Amino acid sequence: MYFRPRTLQEAVHTLASHGGHILSGGTDFFPALGDRPAPSPIVDISALGEIRGISIEPDHIRIGGLTTWTEVIRSPLPRCFDALKSAAREVGSIQIQNRGTVAGNLCNASPAADGVPPLLALDADVELVSTSGMRRIPLCNFIVGNRKTLRRPDEMLSAMIVARKLDDARSTFRKLGARRYLVISIAMVAAVVQTDQADRVTEARVVVGSCSVRAQRLAQLERDLVGARATAGWGSVVTQKHLTGLSPIDDVRATAEYRRDAARTLVERALEDCVEKG
Ligand SMILES: Cc1cc2nc3c(=O)[nH]c(=O)nc-3n(C[C@H](O)[C@H](O)[C@H](O)COP(=O)(O)OP(=O)(O)OC[C@H]3O[C@@H](n4cnc5c(N)ncnc54)[C@H](O)[C@@H]3O)c2cc1C
Repeated sequence: MYFRPRTLQEAVHTLASHGGHILSGGTDFFPALGDRPAPSPIVDISALGEIRGISIEPDHIRIGGLTTWTEVIRSPLPRCFDALKSAAREVGSIQIQNRGTVAGNLCNASPAADGVPPLLALDADVELVSTSGMRRIPLCNFIVGNRKTLRRPDEMLSAMIVARKLDDARSTFRKLGARRYLVISIAMVAAVVQTDQADRVTEARVVVGSCSVRAQRLAQLERDLVGARATAGWGSVVTQKHLTGLSPIDDVRATAEYRRDAARTLVERALEDCVEKG
């Protein structure tokens, strides 16, 4: 069975009465099937115009559940979204960016999902809808493990919401892969750093992905950065102790030891990226 609802209302009713697998851009969905036939029923949400696109509201920014990576790249957004935009440019290829959605990336919940660290650094919430209504939960609680989220089978992710608290903060994304393009991350880092007029840090959020079953904020480092001056060389404040919360694994892409080392270097470089130039 295959459904292609035209409205959000129709979509949640279809999920409630038939269950089924949500299909969005399909860029994780189809590769994950391998040689298996497509599951049934499929609820293809790609015609739901009402959850496509980004809206900028006075107190928050809403990224609709069908927003593609290309739309993120092309939308004018505050500076604190630079990390998300950089991540978007690094997801697969142009074709993948045109089809793949940010919501699909979060719901798939791969430890190597490039969208997760920038959105965690923005302290984003996710909005889930079903016939029972709508609920909003912080992204940091939504992803609970490797490909595991708190989404119930009858729920759809309708939006990601970012409160406009740090619009002017500097933000960056660094990804290490085995080659430059079309590559799954070995380690990645997103950072958002807010400073005062003297370049002293008032708030810092630093997140490492691909080095644990889910991306991790480096809480101790974030605390240590507050009050520091964000000037050239300040990345040297990072020590391995700041990364003790990570639990990287050995796999075909890298050893755990290499990942830990790479993560530290990426965090240092991310902090250097956040130094105001000129
Ligand atoms: C060649 C290639 C390269 C890639 N490179 C990268 C990369 O560099 N970095 C990276 O992070 N990813 C990469 N990906 C993975 C993929 O493109 C992204 O994760 C993409 O954002 C997934 O979005 P989608 O809309 O295609 O999701 P889909 O494949 O349609 O869905 C993915 C999962 O999320 C669920 N889902 C989707 N949307 C919703 C929703 N709104 N509500 C509830 N559940 C939903 C689906 O049921 C499914 O389980 C790559 C994939 C390919 C094929």
